[in-house]
Amino acid sequence: MITTSVCIIGAGPGGATAALQLDRLGISCVVVDKAVFPRDKVCGDGLSGKVITALQRIDPAIAERLRTLQEKENSWGVTFVSPGRQAMDVPYRPNYNKQSDAPIGFVCKRIHFDNFLVDELKRSPHVSLHEGVAIDRYTSGPDGYVVSNADGSFQVTAKLLIIANGAHSSFTKDVAGIRMEPRYYAAGIRAYYKGVTGMHADSFIELHFLKGLLPGYLWIFPLPNGEANVGMDMLSDAVRDRKVNLKKLLTDTLREDPVFAERFRNAEMTSSLDGYGLPLGSKKRTLSGDRYMLVGDAAFIIDPFTGEGIGNALYSGAIAAKQAAACLEQNDFSAATMAAYDESVYRVLGPELRLSHKLQQLVKYPRLFNWLMKMGMKNKQLRDVISSMFYEVDLRKKLTKPSFYFKLLLNR
Ligand SMILES: Cc1cc2nc3c(=O)[nH]c(=O)nc-3n(C[C@H](O)[C@H](O)[C@H](O)COP(=O)(O)OP(=O)(O)OC[C@H]3O[C@@H](n4cnc5c(N)ncnc54)[C@H](O)[C@@H]3O)c2cc1C
Repeated sequence: MITTSVCIIGAGPGGATAALQLDRLGISCVVVDKAVFPRDKVCGDGLSGKVITALQRIDPAIAERLRTLQEKENSWGVTFVSPGRQAMDVPYRPNYNKQSDAPIGFVCKRIHFDNFLVDELKRSPHVSLHEGVAIDRYTSGPDGYVVSNADGSFQVTAKLLIIANGAHSSFTKDVAGIRMEPRYYAAGIRAYYKGVTGMHADSFIELHFLKGLLPGYLWIFPLPNGEANVGMDMLSDAVRDRKVNLKKLLTDTLREDPVFAERFRNAEMTSSLDGYGLPLGSKKRTLSGDRYMLVGDAAFIIDPFTGEGIGNALYSGAIAAKQAAACLEQNDFSAATMAAYDESVYRVLGPELRLSHKLQQLVKYPRLFNWLMKMGMKNKQLRDVISSMFYEVDLRKKLTKPSFYFKLLLNR
């Protein structure tokens, strides 16, 4: 039996970040993951600016090591393609200079990125990492939780749990009582390809909001060595109601759509085509209780518009670690005290999640979307706002205000 103050279930981006933050605060923790790293995770592999920002705050040396990680592609912007097929290139930073500017966005296969974080855990003196152990049982007692694997051969006693075991967390469902609701949940699939042509020279990520896919989209994200992550996601209620077979829809689109057929003519799929769930932060939920906090996908906080969950997992992981430090200091692990965690998460991520939920609704209207894209091609102000959608919430806010469209019309 291992005894610790804080036990973290899951060493993905959320759990690893919580552990790194605790380590830098001088607090010991035990991290348990069912996988042995390096391990794959179905994802688009897009790392937004939040990732480097979060790591920089925890320890600038980690951010610096990520900047020099070989296995990632630096991405300088986004290409949006509207239902009417207008393409609009939006750099993350206006007038960027690849030589002198530090890149903000990256694309990195999760097998490499998550292993990068786990390597950071391994060099952190206060972190004890246990790989290849699936936690199956959670028993709460007066002094804390006992967690164990199915046969009880591995047991940890902890004053506090940080639950970071992803979208299929049984703790989230059974203890925290958060259920999957199809209108606030998306299904996503992805495969790796080699030899896709027509990629942007500065490795812009591509989001294709094609008519038959709305309210979902198809993405092509460039990776090092001429590879690409190609995938699609869609709201689960749309998948259910329209009886969509996402895998078939993606492969049919790549084969039959004239633009993609040309770009994928000599491309080769280098992986299987796999799917996974995206628990969206479209509504507020209770993320903590007596002696526990939910982090990352286990907390249902993926951005409903961009599908970005890694940055939010990192942010929530760091917030959970700071809350754990406060609880340990006060020796108070009650739900009432733990609620400060929910407040912090929603103070930091709430405005952005609410806006993204509104924007996601907007995408349901292809004609408005087409019009926006047409305007965007002519109007730098709009391009700047859209580019900032991934990085700056205050500007994103403008997109949901009628006055913004009115001004655009006047400026036409
Ligand atoms: C198709 C798709 C595309 C996506 N694209 C992007 C993108 O481009 N950019 C982006 O930012 N986000 C993207 N996301 C979202 C992103 O993948 C998640 O938000 C992110 O992985 C959340 O990190 P996490 O640490 O919370 O969970 P995870 O990454 O899922 O990590 C959970 C960890 O817990 C472990 N675990 C699970 N159960 C147990 C158990 N019982 N015991 C012990 N360990 C356990 C797992 O092995 C895993 O290591 C995408 C998601 C999907 C499905």
